[in-house]
Amino acid sequence: MEQPEELHCSFCGRNSREVTSLIAGKGAYMCDICVQNSVDILRKNAQKAGVQTDISSLPKPSEIKKQLDQFVIGQDQPKEVLSVAVYNHYKRIQAEDFVSPFDDVDIEKSNILLLGPTGTGKTLLAQTLARILDVPFAIADATTLTEAGYVGDDVESIIVNLLQNADYNVERAERGIIYVDEIDKLTRKSDSASITRDVSGEGVQQGLLKMLEGTVAGIPPKGGRKHPEQPLIYVNTRNILFICGGAFDGLEKIIARRKRPTTIGFTAGAADTVEEHTGLLRFVEPDDLVKFGFIPEFIGRLPVVTALDPLSDEAMLDILTNPKNALVKQYQKLLLLEGIQLEFDTDALQAIVVRAKQRKTGARGLRGVMEEVMNPIMYRLPDQREVRLCRITKAVVTDGAQPILSTADDRQNADRPNLSA
Ligand code: ADP
Repeated sequence: MEQPEELHCSFCGRNSREVTSLIAGKGAYMCDICVQNSVDILRKNAQKAGVQTDISSLPKPSEIKKQLDQFVIGQDQPKEVLSVAVYNHYKRIQAEDFVSPFDDVDIEKSNILLLGPTGTGKTLLAQTLARILDVPFAIADATTLTEAGYVGDDVESIIVNLLQNADYNVERAERGIIYVDEIDKLTRKSDSASITRDVSGEGVQQGLLKMLEGTVAGIPPKGGRKHPEQPLIYVNTRNILFICGGAFDGLEKIIARRKRPTTIGFTAGAADTVEEHTGLLRFVEPDDLVKFGFIPEFIGRLPVVTALDPLSDEAMLDILTNPKNALVKQYQKLLLLEGIQLEFDTDALQAIVVRAKQRKTGARGLRGVMEEVMNPIMYRLPDQREVRLCRITKAVVTDGAQPILSTADDRQNADRPNLSA
């Protein structure tokens, strides 16, 4: 029996199985990829004809920082570095459509490396940036990545998440932000002269290299590739901003040694104390990261490096009460839905900070402690319908004491000090 003739794009020659759609014309076909390319060419020509890209719609670095301030406490220097890097990144994307006397000058992509202890706001910064700029965002965990062909997620999986979060809108995904967490766990393990392949460290760095710089990743369509003939979705990572973050335990030691090469012999022990190293991350140089276990090419793809500070007690207290969606505000909102006003004594909040710091997980510990304190209270309160005010004192946090509860009548008579958090 005669096979029906296979259709091809008349422009690029791809067959119908390689593309999502083929548009039929008079005796000719055009695939979706060529349609997209044509749109790009037309847009560029329009620019050349004098229609210039408007960069005024981009928030300026100072505006980005101001918005970050609403959600992220402290970390002023990283915020400034990020605001400029992100502003330049999106300006660079717009410059692709912009005709200028510097046409042969390529502005390099400014992927970002965030160093800093756990729970100090690295993920929050990346996430908030995406929200401010209204671009899709995805978080990847470097520890789950392996080289293609090995058990685990290969690096393309990062793009799958971004595409999903962009509702499969390829153009939006191509301008998104990806946060790669725990990047410090991808270091070379080569000191042990193992003959087995290093699938979790250097191999993944190699895999990520292309992604950071710009490559076209083939992604299975929504719901996976149920049939082999289903075409892949192609996502170009050239304009995706990668922000990589990690705690980099031990990097301070490397920086300290470089900064004080004479620190040998008797004094070496003293210089290796944690206190001496605090704050040293901000002096990091590419060589330190290579010594830490990264391949130089990988570090080269992350030209913007900035360090977050450990959070002070004051910053932790601020985090509890000040950001737009601060924990205290969240609990206050929850209880207000039952008509109960929730108040925290200042020393109660300080006690929460003390307990959270013992967990050594930065501000992440705050939520856990808050849950422990509030859970028994929130279990009982719905049964006490007459309660209008719930005041959390220090003893509630430190000794599991009962909060001070008042009813509407009590409140009318009470001569209360101002206890608002
Ligand atoms: P990491 O630095 O480990 O990526 P995250 O950004 O995930 O830390 O922060 C963990 C939790 O602590 C989040 O709930 C976040 O809201 C809170 N948090 C951490 N740092 C800050 C900060 N500087 N300002 C406000 N909240 C913070």
